[in-house]
Amino acid sequence: MSSLINRDKKHVWHPFSQHATSGDPLPIVSAKGTLLYDEKGKSYIDANSSWWVNIHGHGHEIIGKAITDQFQALDHVIFANVTHPQAVRLAERITSKLPSHLTKVFFSDNGSTAAEVALKMCVQFWHNKGEEKTLVMALEGAYHGDTFGAMSVGERDLFNKPFEPLFFHAEYLPFPNPDQEDYILEIAEKRFASGNFAALIVEPLIQGASGMRMYSVGFLDRLMQIARKNKVLIIFDEVMTGFGRTGTFFALDQCNENPDLVMLSKGLTAGVLPLGLTVTSEEIFNSFLSEKTERGFLHGHSYTGNPIACAVANASLDIFEQEGTIEKIERLKEANNEALRLISQEPNVLNLRVCGTILAFEVNTADRVGYFSGIRDKAYQYALERGILLRPLGNTIFINPPYCITREEYDHLITVIISFLRSIQE
Ligand SMILES: *Cc1c(COP(=O)(O)O)cnc(C)c1O
Repeated sequence: MSSLINRDKKHVWHPFSQHATSGDPLPIVSAKGTLLYDEKGKSYIDANSSWWVNIHGHGHEIIGKAITDQFQALDHVIFANVTHPQAVRLAERITSKLPSHLTKVFFSDNGSTAAEVALKMCVQFWHNKGEEKTLVMALEGAYHGDTFGAMSVGERDLFNKPFEPLFFHAEYLPFPNPDQEDYILEIAEKRFASGNFAALIVEPLIQGASGMRMYSVGFLDRLMQIARKNKVLIIFDEVMTGFGRTGTFFALDQCNENPDLVMLSKGLTAGVLPLGLTVTSEEIFNSFLSEKTERGFLHGHSYTGNPIACAVANASLDIFEQEGTIEKIERLKEANNEALRLISQEPNVLNLRVCGTILAFEVNTADRVGYFSGIRDKAYQYALERGILLRPLGNTIFINPPYCITREEYDHLITVIISFLRSIQE
């Protein structure tokens, strides 16, 4: 065992891990492009973009330069009553890519804080208007982060069971499977008519953590119409879907209706530094304006608007403009659609599906299904031995690689996935 692993085991507590059974961590010491390298120099294709965040590949020169340049210019400064060029430039660029009514950008640190900010803004918006509406509607299977507010509007499952007594009450609509859309919209009509809902929060088009579950844009548009009619604010959690993941720059680009708030993180900084944004409308912003301090949004984090993180986000947008990232996304979409045909030949595959740069399916197994399925560990080990870092969600295997993945790397990924499927056939 390497000394790095030994030292890790003495003092490090890893995320989403059961240390009694999780085994040794993989010691990664460097990375370039789509590849991660371990201590012995063995390479691994980063098939899930280092937890869905990396979009342009590792060690990108433009990002490296942005970090050093920004460090020389300004490393960090308080963001209350202070501003700086990188935050302003990022706010200008992000809002220019969003629907025109979304004009104001609040900075925080990650996807969970972007959720907290969005939820608090919605509740205070109604409070400022003198309406005590505090209920939030979410979708079953939702994941919006691991802080208390975000957990409160997420799926109530084994992940957060111990904390459930502390959650605020939220309501849930069933996940919109194609044959249930009308029925679910009827439920939404009835519940929203109560007038008690402050906000609706959704992961647009695809729920990530609950297993890359995709649903129709038609349903989402109709749900938004019902919410709008009943004066319910709409929050789009684009933490996972933003920055090209679903094939368009934002998932909302595929919708006819628009949200009132958009949460961004993950791909925002190309997977290099932590940063979260909550983008909202002029109308919401204006409701906080008053002579009274307490009507303002009195929320912030020490690193709010960190200049280096903002510089990285700007550099990532530069890469989109300079390196034809949109064409890379198109090519990855096409490759996914070709892979659909290959993988669909395998008998133990269920619900094979593609959403832009994401390809997913369930392994049909006699094993336990869901997140705690044994398939997860088998697939993880099988891929690892063949130079791929793949992290399935239970018996859901999915790929969402950096957009710069080469055709060769992509084909290797699909070949290994197919050979894994054959290896476990009973
Ligand atoms: C990852 C994720 C979050 C939480 O983001 P963190 O940066 O991990 O806190 C929220 N929403 C969605 C859809 C996510 O995929």
